[in-house]
Amino acid sequence: MLGGTIRAVGFIGLGIMGGNMAGHIQQAGYALHVHNRTRAKAEPLIARGAVWHDTVADLVAACDAVITIVGYPVDVRQVYLGETGLIANARPGTLLIDMTTSNPSLARLIADSARLRGVASLDAPVSGGEAGAKDARLAIMVGGAAEEVARAMPLFEAMGRTIRHLGPAGAGQHAKAANQILVAAMLMGIAESVAYVKRSGLEPAAVLEVLGAGSAASPLLSVQAPKMIAGDYAAGSHVHHFLKDMGIAIEEAAAMGLDLPALDLSKSRFEELTALGYGTDGTQALSRLYEDDLGS
Ligand code: NAP
Repeated sequence: MLGGTIRAVGFIGLGIMGGNMAGHIQQAGYALHVHNRTRAKAEPLIARGAVWHDTVADLVAACDAVITIVGYPVDVRQVYLGETGLIANARPGTLLIDMTTSNPSLARLIADSARLRGVASLDAPVSGGEAGAKDARLAIMVGGAAEEVARAMPLFEAMGRTIRHLGPAGAGQHAKAANQILVAAMLMGIAESVAYVKRSGLEPAAVLEVLGAGSAASPLLSVQAPKMIAGDYAAGSHVHHFLKDMGIAIEEAAAMGLDLPALDLSKSRFEELTALGYGTDGTQALSRLYEDDLGS
């Protein structure tokens, strides 16, 4: 293990997920330091005592551990690598944890670069959505060295309920890609089932209640189907982010010589949705493609 006790924790990326997750770190009693591209999103945490830093470099210099959950791999690169990034400005022994959904290869690059400077890093993407972040019941998939996972465990336990160490650097991101392969097919199934129920003239709420008690039961069905039926397309999980996730999974599968046609089809359906101007909607907006005046 590279470092000691964690007292001061930095949090970078205070959006739908990070804003909620950082609040749990603060509630768990850590001294919270925050940075975000848009400062306004940090204000509720600052009002409760978090310390704002204008730059990544200033933040990491004040912290024993830093958690990041930004948008895309390009954001992860910007935050971690280069002269102004976390790795170059961290004290030896600092623990860096990326919870963004990103590439396994980037997680490995970060781990190698961090190790050269005596800094520890983990990839720890999450599943459970906005509700899981709010209620601190995320599923957390971790890649990295076992002793660093043990050191990070109290932080993970403040934000999640099911936490698994799955292998070396990149293993967490591989598991998240596997999760998104499932979600991609499930969202298509849910959107098509909702379209069918509506067209059949049945009472959607009653049908959903019984489907949700059978073999098709899942948190995704119970959260997303009612939103599809109500036409509530507000983003809990952005279409743009989900396209990024499917792109990562397709690229990784191709690198392993694996063809995943259901994933390819789901990605093309979400691309259709984006072309219609709905990329900033939530992923449940897939059901828009089944409305009478749109798509098939
Ligand atoms: P989000 O609401 O867009 O939050 C991302 C935050 O990161 C934003 O506040 C953004 O700043 C900030 N950010 C981006 N680049 C930055 C940079 N270079 N420096 C500082 N801050 C930066 O997205 P989210 O829904 O929380 O998702 C975050 C990540 O978790 C994504 O990778 C997503 O795929 C993954 N994820 C999301 C869900 C979900 O249900 N939402 C579930 C599991 C995993 P601004 O405020 O300026 O935009």
